[in-house]
Amino acid sequence: IGTPDQETVEAGFITWRDGNVPFSPHFGDVYYNPKDGLAETRYVFLEGNNLPAAWQAKDSFTIGETGFGTGLNFLAAWQCWAQDANRSRHLHFVSVEKYPLSRDDMIRAHQSWPELAEFSTQLGDVWPHETMLPGVHRFILGDGKISLTLLIGDAIDCWSAYSGNIDCWFLDGFAPSRNPDMWHPSLFAALANASNPAGATLATFTAARIARDGLESAGFVVSKRKGFAYKRDMITAALPAHPDKDGADSRLYEIAEDPWFNLPTSQAHKSVAVIGGGMAGAACADALRKRDCAVTLFEKRDQLASMASGNPIGMLEPYLTVDHAITGRFYEAGYRYSHRMVKRLADRGDVEADFCGVLELATSPRKRERLDGLLARLHDKPDLVRAMNSDEAGEIFGLSVPMDGVFYPSAGWVHPPSLVHALTRDIDCQLATHITDILDGPDGKILRASDGREFGPFDCVVIAGALETSQLAQTAWLSDQLNPVRGQISYCPQEVISNAYDSANIRCVLSYKGYLTPERNGIHVIGATFGRDDDQTDIRTDDHTYNINQLTKILPAISEHISADKLDGRAALRTTTADHLPLIGPAPDFDRYLAAYHDIDKGKKGARYINAPYHKDVYICTGFGARGLIGAPLAAEILASEICAMPLPLEKALMHALHPARFIIRGLKRRHISA
Ligand code: SAM
Repeated sequence: IGTPDQETVEAGFITWRDGNVPFSPHFGDVYYNPKDGLAETRYVFLEGNNLPAAWQAKDSFTIGETGFGTGLNFLAAWQCWAQDANRSRHLHFVSVEKYPLSRDDMIRAHQSWPELAEFSTQLGDVWPHETMLPGVHRFILGDGKISLTLLIGDAIDCWSAYSGNIDCWFLDGFAPSRNPDMWHPSLFAALANASNPAGATLATFTAARIARDGLESAGFVVSKRKGFAYKRDMITAALPAHPDKDGADSRLYEIAEDPWFNLPTSQAHKSVAVIGGGMAGAACADALRKRDCAVTLFEKRDQLASMASGNPIGMLEPYLTVDHAITGRFYEAGYRYSHRMVKRLADRGDVEADFCGVLELATSPRKRERLDGLLARLHDKPDLVRAMNSDEAGEIFGLSVPMDGVFYPSAGWVHPPSLVHALTRDIDCQLATHITDILDGPDGKILRASDGREFGPFDCVVIAGALETSQLAQTAWLSDQLNPVRGQISYCPQEVISNAYDSANIRCVLSYKGYLTPERNGIHVIGATFGRDDDQTDIRTDDHTYNINQLTKILPAISEHISADKLDGRAALRTTTADHLPLIGPAPDFDRYLAAYHDIDKGKKGARYINAPYHKDVYICTGFGARGLIGAPLAAEILASEICAMPLPLEKALMHALHPARFIIRGLKRRHISA
């Protein structure tokens, strides 16, 4: 799902009719029936898909849509689900939108339906204030029982790139005659591909030939029924079941060209063990609990957040890239997801955080080039990133700085331990329990601890053990892939800054080659060193000196007021991978991968290979480097979605880029690994 092409502001522009009814001058069409949009939605899309009956027999139900628009269809479905005593436990709504409405416009449209007010308010609370970037956005609503996944971009591109086991489709979008580009055969094929292999239904307001023929050629069985109000006909359709080649019907997706990345078929996983009590483990526990799994978390040390997530301050800063390639797309989506999560928890007083903004300085020509590139790509997103000359930068920071840079207004800092604790509240946490083995028992996985105690059975295990992930037999092959990078931070007493600069009033995080945070509990944190392949966590004066030296390049007067040998600090290890992306997904069975795919370097077509062989019901979540805060919450959402066979929060290409087996496949293709 890429950057939008030549789309114009004009195409996303709306005017208002009859008060609060949006109209698109570009398409020359209204968003819904101006007289009674809600009744139309209920008749066409809900009844047309046999809702609410269709979700009643299910644990989890997923609706897919083309054209989110004002979200009226979503709100109507949510309301119907909320009022249904026999509803599914979870409802997922995945929709695409090329021209997302602003929050104000969306809320204004909702004014027509006071009965949807409570749902509209919840949607408005999570809807970004800034224009949404292209890509996949996941919103959690209704106490975690509802998820809304918005694919921002063109319907055909987005639905081709995504797969979500869709149970029923709301085929909306402006009338085919007014929006012929969308009603294209490739859209119908993409919808068929993204459907639940066990079968799917579809409804649309139109009976136009282009829709009927398109759906039929994509495999849907089409019927006509009376249209809403003055419309003569509308279409409903059904896609028959087509089990995948293993005969299973619950695989999230199946790609013939890359069978080594196909996800395992999922069963209902009700009890899950999570190994690791840092940010990744805590986020996984929370995401699984929201899906009704009974979670037990195991931590080797006697408290949670005792390693990298134990730092007193972590920057919540977007990692934006100029090219917006895979790494940038993952962390961009991750930042948005984490930001919403932290904001929600901070608003409730459960997490200590400050959205004070982050000022990043152009400390070198290379950095300047990168920041210029970002500003060029995101020039219309001042809520995300803004250019700052050095005067403006000093004004925002609270102390003059010697160069210009950019400001990320939504960013800030978090107290990571408070986030880990908030995410694991009410989770059964087994501390001081060092799991050394995951064994297969007759009723599920048994976890054995170093002192001989055994736990379980569990239906599924998630290993979120940072570097120690590779200490278990199933994941031992990862020891070559996970590398430690030592990071030491220095605690700078507040007086140091105020003695050096009378006028200092530091208001935001400053990011240069290192970073300086605003004061918290009398301390500014100066970060951080980057010691590759160093797995020691002792506190070193040399590392304090390094941190001070980086800071004094920006704030030289500090040097006379600070001395490295008197500082306190903390050192922790980051877990990095060769391609700077985390490992998220099912645990490959290394030996069986080698046996199955040993000759892929010879260029045989993937379709001739078996589906990926995994250690059944074992999953991995690690390798976030210094970006756990903006990576782990989304990673947990991915993993929990995989484990529970619910729609994924990212498109397939990103899922593959994060798949733990990518290193095995790359190694085989490049002949670095052989069977
Ligand atoms: N379901 C909507 C609601 O509940 O408000 C009404 C949808 S309105 C008729 C059509 C929507 O499709 C508009 O929001 C429009 O921006 C979007 N759209 C049109 N063409 C599109 C395309 N090619 N890709 C993605 N979205 C598109």
